[in-house]
Amino acid sequence: MSIVTKCIGVAKKVKHRFDAQIKARTPVYVSPVRRVERVKTEERVVAMTFDDGPSRMLPNPPGDHKKGLTMELVDILEKYGARGTFDVVGSTAGNYPDEAGKEGSAAWGGKKYDHYPDIGHDAEGGAEVCREEVDRILSGGHEISSHTYAHILYGPKNVVYGSRTYLGDIEKAVSDLEKLHALMKNRHGYTIHLSRPPHYVDKIAPGLSSYDALALMGYQYMAASFDGAGWLPLSTYEAEVEATWRPLERALSEDPDSMKGQIIFQKDGFNMARRTPIADGLEIQLKLLTDAGYKVVTVSELMERSPFADLGQGDDAFEAAKTLAEKGYCPAYRDNTVRPETVMTVGELCETIFGWDAAKKRVDRILQRSGPWPCGLAADHPYGAAVELAMERGCLERTPHFDPAAQLMAEPLTAFLRSLTGKTPELPEKMSRGEILKLLAETL
Ligand SMILES: [Zn+2]
Repeated sequence: MSIVTKCIGVAKKVKHRFDAQIKARTPVYVSPVRRVERVKTEERVVAMTFDDGPSRMLPNPPGDHKKGLTMELVDILEKYGARGTFDVVGSTAGNYPDEAGKEGSAAWGGKKYDHYPDIGHDAEGGAEVCREEVDRILSGGHEISSHTYAHILYGPKNVVYGSRTYLGDIEKAVSDLEKLHALMKNRHGYTIHLSRPPHYVDKIAPGLSSYDALALMGYQYMAASFDGAGWLPLSTYEAEVEATWRPLERALSEDPDSMKGQIIFQKDGFNMARRTPIADGLEIQLKLLTDAGYKVVTVSELMERSPFADLGQGDDAFEAAKTLAEKGYCPAYRDNTVRPETVMTVGELCETIFGWDAAKKRVDRILQRSGPWPCGLAADHPYGAAVELAMERGCLERTPHFDPAAQLMAEPLTAFLRSLTGKTPELPEKMSRGEILKLLAETL
C-alpha cells in the first residue's frame, strides 16, 4: 500500500468517526424525504449510482475505449445485465466567470463552481446537450436521478469548498431542480424521483435544507453506502483502477452477503486528476459482483424491493410501512429507519399523516418570517406545519401549547382516526410504533 493510499485511508477513517459522532448527536425526525443510503434485504441485490454526467468526452487514458465515457459505462453495465442509476446534471455552462484550481485538489474543475465534464468543456456534458446519451441511458432500462441542473452548492461548505459560490436560497434551489425535472419530462417523457445534492451539502438557509427542497419536488434523497473510489486521485492510473475494485473484492471475500442492499457511489466523469479509472474499473467490479451472485439494479428497483434501512421482507411492520409509503404517508424517519419497537409521539403521527402536504406550508412560513405557529411550535419545527394541518382538519384539538413529544396514547389516536375515516376503533391504551403503523395501513 502506498503512503498516499494509507493517508487517504486514515483521513477517511477519521472523517467516518466524526460523521458517526455527529449522527449520534443529531435528533431524527419523521420525514417525507428519507436519506436512502442502503436498504435491508436478504437478496443479493445492489445498486450503482454514477454522478456528474453525462459526458461525451473520451475516457482518459482512452485505452481501447472509442466512445464517450457515459456511452462506455452503459455498454459495460449491459454486458453484465446490470442497470445503473445516472445521477445527472443539466449543464454547468452558466457557471462563469471562473478559473481552474490546482490539479489534484477539490478545485480542479473550477474555483467558484464545478464544471462537468471539465472547465472550458461544459458543452461536452450534461443532460441538456447530451440528448443521445440520455436516450441511450433510458432505452437501456437504466435510471436517471437529479444531481441538480447546475451543480451549484445549496449552501456554504467551508471545509474543502470555502471559495465556492452557493445558492443559499430555497427558491433558487427548487427552480434549479425544476429546470432539470422539466427537461427530462418534456423532452424524454421521464419523471425523476430521486436526487443527490451537490457534495451532500444540505443546509440551504436558516431553518431550510435540501430535505425541504426535495419534499417540494416529491423526491427521495439518494445517498450511498459504499465508495467506488472513482473520484480518488492516486500516483498512477493503475493504482486508481485498482482502488475502484479492491475494497469490493475484500468486502465480498470477508462476507459475501456484505453488499446486500448497498448503494455504490461511482463517477460518470473525471477524478480530481482528470482521469477516469471507472472506465476500466467498472467491468472488474461487475465481474466480482456477478461471480458472488449479485444482481445490479437501479436505486428505484432496490427501493421497490425494500424501501427502508432497518426493515426487510418478513420483518414485523415491513409491509405496513411499505404500504403507507406507497400511499403517500410518511412512516419512516429522515435516516430511513422505521424503528417499529419504539413509541410514537403525537408530533410524529401528524408528520406521518400530513408530511407531504405540510412541506410547502412549512417553507412558506419560514420564508414569510411570521413567527411561531398558533400551536406554539417554532416556525422551523420539523412537525409545526403538519401539527397545524392536523388541527385545521379537526384531527387534534387546538391548543396554543402543543407538546409534539408526548407519547401517542389511545385517545388522541382514536380521535385522529375518527376524523380521517369516520370510524372509531377500539384500541389498547399503549401501542408500539410498529403496531400503530399496522393499524394505519389497515385503516387509511
Ligand atoms: Zn457531484
